[in-house]
Amino acid sequence: MLRRTSYPAALLLLAVLLSLPVAAFARDASQVESAHFRVRYKSEQLSREQAETARDQAESAWQRCADLFHTEPAQKIQLDLTPDLLGATGFARPGDIHSTDPKHAPLVGVRYSELGYLGIGSQYVINHEVAHVFSGRLAATPLGEGIADWAAGLFNGIPMAPWWGQALRDADLWVDPDALFITGDYEAPAEVDPRTRTAEYTEAALLVRFLVREYGWDRFARFAERYGAARGTILSNALLGHAGGDSPFARDSQRRRAPDPERVRQTFSETLGDSWPAIRERWEHEMSSEPVPAALGQRLVLAETIYGSIRNYEMWLLRHGRDVRDTDRQAVRRAFGEANQAMAAGDLKAAAKSLREAQDRVKALKRPLAVAAALRNEEGDAAEG
Ligand SMILES: [Zn+2]
Repeated sequence: MLRRTSYPAALLLLAVLLSLPVAAFARDASQVESAHFRVRYKSEQLSREQAETARDQAESAWQRCADLFHTEPAQKIQLDLTPDLLGATGFARPGDIHSTDPKHAPLVGVRYSELGYLGIGSQYVINHEVAHVFSGRLAATPLGEGIADWAAGLFNGIPMAPWWGQALRDADLWVDPDALFITGDYEAPAEVDPRTRTAEYTEAALLVRFLVREYGWDRFARFAERYGAARGTILSNALLGHAGGDSPFARDSQRRRAPDPERVRQTFSETLGDSWPAIRERWEHEMSSEPVPAALGQRLVLAETIYGSIRNYEMWLLRHGRDVRDTDRQAVRRAFGEANQAMAAGDLKAAAKSLREAQDRVKALKRPLAVAAALRNEEGDAAEG
């Protein structure tokens, strides 16, 4: 959920935010402050208590990140709880971590008032976005989301552990590590889905976790930079030619060619001193030697599936949703929201049922557009013929 300023949509959003006169914020938004954050919220969306909870979560994220990254921003982070966007739950503009110029203050945005529907947990999202700020330049590398999720340290309240790998692989929420991390040669839909979202964030986070434990943060950070230059992105090669790839923020804009797998592999041995196959084997061994706790495993898989489905739906809405009626949008949102409420209440069966309802509704919305596109293609073929 990193949004660099070079991403057009983020740029637009930030341009809007930054061009608003200070007086406009004073009228429209309320503020709370703490040692490391300036928090902005709208009183019609959130109560002061909720904003203070977010501020306390942000302070705890700061402490956690300061320990993990061995550094901290030179000035307060602006935490905006008001962003109105689709396709992501939050964004971060890390800026220069050493800058004390208020014009370049790091900025984090979180759809805090919508987390009931989005469902991934407020502490997770805040940890993740704050981690983007602390990781600075590495946030924009292919392991950037993995680094932020490793630092977040949990998902849907479940602490990250090696067994996650086994549980996700068993549920087919996994991309073969050679394909994901080295060659880019794997199937992926145009819009991010539960499998590719989980791979880019969680699978990458599990690798980051392993590498940091084995080699320490500083050595890992040197590796991540070299690896990023060689790999470019961990999106599928199938998406390289797509405008926007899986995201409205067009992460792939600088890269149109598949990576050189040999060069990518070399970055492991050059900076970590061990070959990729050796590292992969040790990492996979660690993940498969820990038993999967059954209830937590099911919960993790369902939480990743719900969230990946929401991301997929919102990405689709951004591209094709102009004609989707408001009542249909509300029905989908209600079904996802109910799935997440059931998750929060620990009722996995009810959550799975509401998820199926949401997915069926999304499928029904997508179908007429898919038919129209197929018809247009047929007409095109006929005209050419
Ligand atoms: Zn992110």
